Amino acid sequence: MSETVDYDVVVIGGGPAGYPTAIRAAQNGLKVACVDAWRNHDGGSAFGGTCLNAGCIPSKALLESSELWHRAQHEFAAHGIRASGLTLDLAAMQKRRATIVKGMTGGIAALLKAAGVTGMFGSGKLHPGRVVEVTGTDGKVTRLRGRHVVLASGSVPTPLKSLPFDGQRIIDSWGALELPEVPKRLCVIGAGVIGLELGSVWRRLGAEVITLEALDALLPMADTQLATEAAKHFKKLGLDIRLGAKVSGAQPDKDGVSVRYTDANGEQSLVVDKLIVAIGRRPFTEGLLAEGTGVRLDERGFVQVDEHCATGTENVWAVGEVVRGPMLAHKGKEEGIAVADRIAGKYAHVNYDLIPSVIYTAPEIAWVGQTEAQLQAAKIDYKSGVFPFAASGRARAMEASSGFVKLLAAKATDDILGVHIIGPMAGELIAEAVVAMEFRGSAEDLQRTIHAHPTLAEALHEAALAADKRAIDNINR
Ligand SMILES: Cc1cc2nc3c(=O)[nH]c(=O)nc-3n(C[C@H](O)[C@H](O)[C@H](O)COP(=O)(O)OP(=O)(O)OC[C@H]3O[C@@H](n4cnc5c(N)ncnc54)[C@H](O)[C@@H]3O)c2cc1C
Repeated sequence: MSETVDYDVVVIGGGPAGYPTAIRAAQNGLKVACVDAWRNHDGGSAFGGTCLNAGCIPSKALLESSELWHRAQHEFAAHGIRASGLTLDLAAMQKRRATIVKGMTGGIAALLKAAGVTGMFGSGKLHPGRVVEVTGTDGKVTRLRGRHVVLASGSVPTPLKSLPFDGQRIIDSWGALELPEVPKRLCVIGAGVIGLELGSVWRRLGAEVITLEALDALLPMADTQLATEAAKHFKKLGLDIRLGAKVSGAQPDKDGVSVRYTDANGEQSLVVDKLIVAIGRRPFTEGLLAEGTGVRLDERGFVQVDEHCATGTENVWAVGEVVRGPMLAHKGKEEGIAVADRIAGKYAHVNYDLIPSVIYTAPEIAWVGQTEAQLQAAKIDYKSGVFPFAASGRARAMEASSGFVKLLAAKATDDILGVHIIGPMAGELIAEAVVAMEFRGSAEDLQRTIHAHPTLAEALHEAALAADKRAIDNINR
């Protein structure tokens, strides 16, 4: 066994929660190590975690490519562009996806190095006394002692109990991003964010996609008006979303998978080429904690933390998807930065009320703050302003005029309480709402802020005006 090397901070996990923790800690003048166990399908190691290797980035690469393919086939004609003889080169599309991932993950290694962080590939296990034993990819064991240790080991896909992943017919979201051929018939279990994004990719590329969702409502976490509008667009794309469909089993064989489920009409079954299980993710703590660390897991397997991400064991913290809260990369990043600042004795705060959500379908869906249903349940008196993209010159010019911006503000104070967008670049537009709300802006603040013309952002300006029935570019109702 080698000697123990001392660090100010040892971070276990180099995903979007772990690597920002390490970089900010190093920026704060601390001696930092970041350990990551990620192994790609080719066996190679990489920083970046699920997000960069198997989640946010590869999915967005394929969403972009497949959307261009779809638009070339179905929307270019409206611009007067007649494209004939279009062919799909999926191998090239997948190569582009892989190149982007490689570039981004390599970039993280470079960022860690430039910040002075010691990056290590291997599996870290926390022992009492904040000693982290790292088993390297070559089997060599190194011992690190952290004045502070941050756990950022993330999550893994949840299989259905009766349907273990086989990597061939029954695949997880990562496998679904690396398919070498477009399946003829595909079933996605789960109409959550990941299921909808993956379903959209393969539907646009030509697969028949059937999505089975156990819940009776689509996107129940979103504002109802947004979810209703989204359902129309998914239908138009040809996604066959079956709600209230509870999967009871599946049988893979050499020709496909037969999937059994029950819905309001009783027992149903279908046969598909591939089955993607996208029912959620669970925290990953396998091999992370030795006996006696004092770090506790809750009943769902999340590392227990307080509102500052402290575990209760002295100087041991946990951030990202291994702890409670929305499973989003930007949530983990902010937690990591806050912990690194707190370790350095600085002020830090994560505003859990203002974490934006984005679904990168077409049109995009994004929101921040409270929905109408939440405001009604909380008996908060609110006003609502809606502006349709059909009235936006920029959206019309883009041939992307579906959807709307809805702004909810308190009747009593005019504070913005929620912004809900479905439409072009909704994921970008929501940032303005987040900033406004973070500064406790009012609808009037947005009304008095000059927005360039013609831009999509004007829709937010107009929605703020509409909340007081003062929209200029739409009829006030
Ligand atoms: C298909 C898909 C699409 C997604 N799209 C989005 C999106 O658009 N926007 C968004 O915000 N979120 C998205 N997400 C979610 C996002 O990927 C996660 O929120 C994010 O990756 C969580 O970050 P994390 O650092 O907590 O965990 P992870 O990214 O899972 O990273 C944890 C890292 O820790 C390593 N590790 C685990 N145990 C150990 C150990 N003992 N020792 C050393 N290393 C260890 C793992 O190998 C991994 O590299 C998507 C997820 C999926 C699956």
